Formats: sequence, C-alpha cells, structure tokens
Amino acid sequence: MDRDFILKEFELIQKKFRHLKLKFNGDNAVISGVISFTCNVKNAIIRDWFLIKINVPNTFPDALPCVEEIDNRIPRISSCHVNPDGTLCLGIPLEIYNEIQKNNNPLFFYVDTYIVDFLAQYSFYEKKHFWPYGEYEHGGFGILNYYLQEFKVQSWELVYILLKILALNIDFKGNEKCPCGSNKLYKNCHKTILGKLGKTKYNFTEDLILVNEYIKENLL
Ligand SMILES: [Zn+2]
Ligand SMILES: [Zn+2]
Repeated sequence: MDRDFILKEFELIQKKFRHLKLKFNGDNAVISGVISFTCNVKNAIIRDWFLIKINVPNTFPDALPCVEEIDNRIPRISSCHVNPDGTLCLGIPLEIYNEIQKNNNPLFFYVDTYIVDFLAQYSFYEKKHFWPYGEYEHGGFGILNYYLQEFKVQSWELVYILLKILALNIDFKGNEKCPCGSNKLYKNCHKTILGKLGKTKYNFTEDLILVNEYIKENLL
C-alpha cells in the first residue's frame, strides 16, 4: 500500500471527523474512533455519533474497506443491514466500487458518503423504526437483483453463469455464441457489459459466492 496516499486521504478525513485515528497494521490501514456528524435525513436533522473501525485493505481502492460499529449499538442482524461477520452493509459493493473509482479522494469520499449516510439512516431507523429511503434488499438477494438489471437477464441462473465468467476471467471471442444462451453472437449480446466489467480490478468472486448461496437456499 502507498502510505503517503492513505496519509493524505486521512488528513482530509480528520479535518472533518477529528476524533478518528489512523494506524497501520502490517499492510493494512485501520481507522477507528468516534465519527460524529450532522445530516439532513428526510427533513429531519440527525445529529449523532458512532464508534467505528474501518479496515482499509492494502489494495484499496481496488478492494473496498470493511466497516464495523464497535460499541454494540447496531444489532448484528440483516434487518439492520449488518453482515454475519459484523461488517456494515453499506450498499451494493460493485456500485460503491464504481463510484469510488471516479473520485479523486476515494477514501475520504467513502467515509464522508457511504459510512456517514449509512449511520445517519440507521440513526433515523433506530428512532422511527423504518428506513428513511425505503430498504434495499440485503446480502445475496440484493446483489442478485443488482446483477439481474446490470446483465439485463431474467433468471438467477443466468446471473450465476455470467458472474462466474467474470470471477474466473473467462474470455469469449466475438463470433462465439453468447454464454447467456440467447443464440446471439457474443459481440451482439453480452460482450459490451462483460468487457467493461472485466476490465475493472473488482473481485467478482465474493459476489459469486453470495449469489450462489442465495440461489441454493431459495431455489430448492
Ligand atoms: Zn444490507
Ligand atoms: Zn448474452
């Protein structure tokens, strides 16, 4: 990891969230402490704070950070959008990945946008017992629905097939039949979308595993 890059990003983060601290732990960076914020959520002013820990992998921004709330305030259950391993579910990973790639200060942007938005919305949910902007589907089901739209396919199985091609980095020739089974040539079917996603450094394996688990549990 480029420590100078993380240090510069952290300087920006600390200007806004002055109780957060940065430590390097081997190859990874760990940012932890109190994050306090004032936000407008659905015309309600949310002023709150949480105790959090952000693990920033040494491959950031090619790999996303993991965020935990470490004060036992947010129950570790899917209705609170917390994953079984205790990490917060800030949204669809590929969507977050695509957004942070476009930003010049990806780590500051990640904290200031995704983490603060999630916590502000959770704070709202805690008081009013509903999510302010409606709820997106959690875990494998949410990811599955995201890819149904992204790939423009109708079935879970096709999502699995196309995601596997991305995860395993399988190459198709333009004049081959498209693996989606449409009987069209690859170049006239999924080449554009798979080509675009395949060029990124995003790790599709995690998504493939979650989608596979969800399909197995819900198709039988
Ligand atoms: Zn979730
Ligand atoms: Zn196709």
